[in-house]
Amino acid sequence: MQKPEYDEYELQRREMVRQLRLYGIVNERVLKAFSEVERHRFFIPEYRNRAYEDCACPIGYGQTISQPFTVAYMTSMLAERCPSGNVLEIGTGSGYQAAILDAMGYEVRSVERLPELHERVAKLFGELGIPVELRLGDGSLGWPEHAPYQGIIVTAAAPRIPHALKEQLADGGSLIIPVGGAEGQVMTVLTREGYTFHKDTFETFAFVPLVGREGWRRDD
Ligand code: SAM
Repeated sequence: MQKPEYDEYELQRREMVRQLRLYGIVNERVLKAFSEVERHRFFIPEYRNRAYEDCACPIGYGQTISQPFTVAYMTSMLAERCPSGNVLEIGTGSGYQAAILDAMGYEVRSVERLPELHERVAKLFGELGIPVELRLGDGSLGWPEHAPYQGIIVTAAAPRIPHALKEQLADGGSLIIPVGGAEGQVMTVLTREGYTFHKDTFETFAFVPLVGREGWRRDD
């Protein structure tokens, strides 16, 4: 008898987690979330068979779902600095990063600027029973009504750190954001201590642009 499809995906998911360990992801909470969340559900049908490969894939409308390593890397950075609390994601995209954060027990909100992606994820989260609150809008301005946030993760490339996001960080909170142009962006962590902000920079990545008032203008 032919194996059901979900068994195949589960095997692939285990292999993805094994690879993440080899690449240096050590946070067990992060790895547990990666083994639980069904990544293939966040893919469009044309790319679903690539869901567990370590690559970014198109999700439509010129956008991508980030590769597993990138999601695991950013999530680990967050988990090390803020183990619990309310977290804001900018750039809902496929919804995968938000679902990982939800599986780790954070109170998650996520902002997306493209209506088609926002609506698709709202429907998917409804079907999967994922309680992440979603908003359609310009995430470079954050989501002030629910601030302050213990953590903010930006999953699109910003030309500079948006002031609004700094202001919406809780005392002791961290903002994780790739900063730079089309040639590559430096993963940057800004941690707030009262009115002081500490900045650390890490590896270089390649994200689609953060388009908005405090991001790139369309014609930048
Ligand atoms: N986190 C996503 C996931 O798990 O699939 C991947 C995000 S994708 C690399 C970047 C997303 O940021 C795109 O969906 C894009 O439309 C969105 N984006 C770009 N500028 C934005 C802005 N100003 N506000 C909100 N979303 C934005």
